[in-house]
Amino acid sequence: MTGLENDIKLLIQVQELDAQIQNLDTEIKRIPEEMDAHYRSFKAKKDELTVLESELVEIQKNRKLKEVELDSGTEEIKKYKTQQTSVKTNKEYTSLQHEIEQIQEKNSILEDEILSLMEQSDTAHENIEKKAEEIKLENGKLEREEQENKKKIARFEQELQKRQKERKNLVITVDSAIVAKYERIRDLKNGIGIVNISDGTCGGCHMELPPQIINDAKTGNGITVCERCSRILYVAESD
Ligand SMILES: [Zn+2]
Repeated sequence: MTGLENDIKLLIQVQELDAQIQNLDTEIKRIPEEMDAHYRSFKAKKDELTVLESELVEIQKNRKLKEVELDSGTEEIKKYKTQQTSVKTNKEYTSLQHEIEQIQEKNSILEDEILSLMEQSDTAHENIEKKAEEIKLENGKLEREEQENKKKIARFEQELQKRQKERKNLVITVDSAIVAKYERIRDLKNGIGIVNISDGTCGGCHMELPPQIINDAKTGNGITVCERCSRILYVAESD
């Protein structure tokens, strides 16, 4: 194996490590972002609960007002009925009777409204309980997720350090000019700096390669690159 062949072989390993490092790095960044999204939707649920609770307070306040109004109506009726026992004329009696009937009518409407508010209050209670249960479950789920993710990130970080160390040790064994060339192309080309030739085409951009280039890559006289995407080319051993 020539020096170049060996360098190419090592470079392929470097690229594999780079892909692993890139994946680990992406995961380490992605997990907290995903958690943030979960926490945002959790907060939205809690906000919904706050709205439901304040709606219930409104319903209860309204009901209280109606009850006070109903009580005072009932008191008034009592008062007029007492007055009826001591009136002197029929006219006075009828006039009081008229007052009583008007209040009774109003009270009947109030009773209906109170009933409806009681129903609304029951529904609101149910919705609050449902939402609170959802939140409780979600909270437990998030806590477990948070714990798992912490462990996962710690594992990934450990793995990342290991791979970075491996890469460092590997890369010093490769011709530094070739490494520099690889890194330059890798940074420009989405993490892929070295590709194999498969079926006479570049494994990176899939352009058909001139026979001369393929031959150069096979004989290993200096680094061969794809004319189109500039990636370093190599011939896989089986080809
Ligand atoms: Zn190419």
